[in-house]
Amino acid sequence: ARTGALRAAQQPCTTADGTRIEVFANLGSVDDAAAAVRAGAEGCGLLRTEFLFLDRAEAPTEAEQQALYAAIATTLDERPLIIRTLDIGGDKPVPYLHSRPEENPALGQRGVRLSLARPDLLETQLRAILAGVPGAQCRIMLPMIADIGEVEGVRASLNRATLAIGRTDPVQLGIMVETPAAAMIADHLAAKVDFLSIGTNDLTQYTLAADRGNAGVAAMVDALHPAVLRLIARTVEGAGRHGRWVGVCGSLGSDPRVAPLLVGLGITELSAVPAIVPEVKAAIRAVTIAAARALAARALAATSAAEVRALLEEQA
Ligand code: PEP
Ligand code: MG
Repeated sequence: ARTGALRAAQQPCTTADGTRIEVFANLGSVDDAAAAVRAGAEGCGLLRTEFLFLDRAEAPTEAEQQALYAAIATTLDERPLIIRTLDIGGDKPVPYLHSRPEENPALGQRGVRLSLARPDLLETQLRAILAGVPGAQCRIMLPMIADIGEVEGVRASLNRATLAIGRTDPVQLGIMVETPAAAMIADHLAAKVDFLSIGTNDLTQYTLAADRGNAGVAAMVDALHPAVLRLIARTVEGAGRHGRWVGVCGSLGSDPRVAPLLVGLGITELSAVPAIVPEVKAAIRAVTIAAARALAARALAATSAAEVRALLEEQA
């Protein structure tokens, strides 16, 4: 039975009636990548590159970054690797990159905003990614998108970096949906990118106007709030108009009980913490797409997160 379970964990994931759902892992290091492969992850849905920049006095060099991205790519053995560009600021301050203190960092120059303000940093990172990760394995994802101009700005940098490296094969570019704005204009954004992945941690924080790190409002920061679920549905709808897939890489994607709901909302890729990958796969395999969609319809009509949670418990 144990080898059977191990074998199942390594198989691609489908619902009980055969709808393909990719189960990826969130990574922050080479060690994580090895753990993800052992756990049966089909790829990396979010590589948090900030960790490379934290706890040091200056930014890592292009060569240092390239070596790390290459090591993770090699460990993943040709599985897709979605590398998120630097997501500094907000709850991840890096003193040597932020010259001015901000009164409200969560609404400040964080994520892609900082990258666009510092094209030197961004293009160094893009060159390191393009040189370090070969072939179709290489995918790039932008954090904290709120406006189409941000995608266009990064695209210009990506074109320059591509020329500098001399790379000729197309590399997929995607965005994170972490702001209500991005969810509402997902159709316009989807026209400019290859995929969208929902960062439910920040999307919840910004939708409910409740700081994800503030213990005083922790009870409010609930990704099952119907407002968040409706923004996820809206994102899927907008992305679908351009044939783009939508994933979830926030913490909601690491909760096996929620996986059927996300699949029912039209999510086709889930990226979880490595250790949870087998459980997420098992939860998806246990549900049909029709049952998942019926659950999603009821959750979208629910009046509160508590009601959504009760629906999930009813299914379990
Ligand atoms: C998120 O916001 O859901 C996310 C995945 O990004 P991070 O947690 O790194 O902000
Ligand atoms: Mg985030």
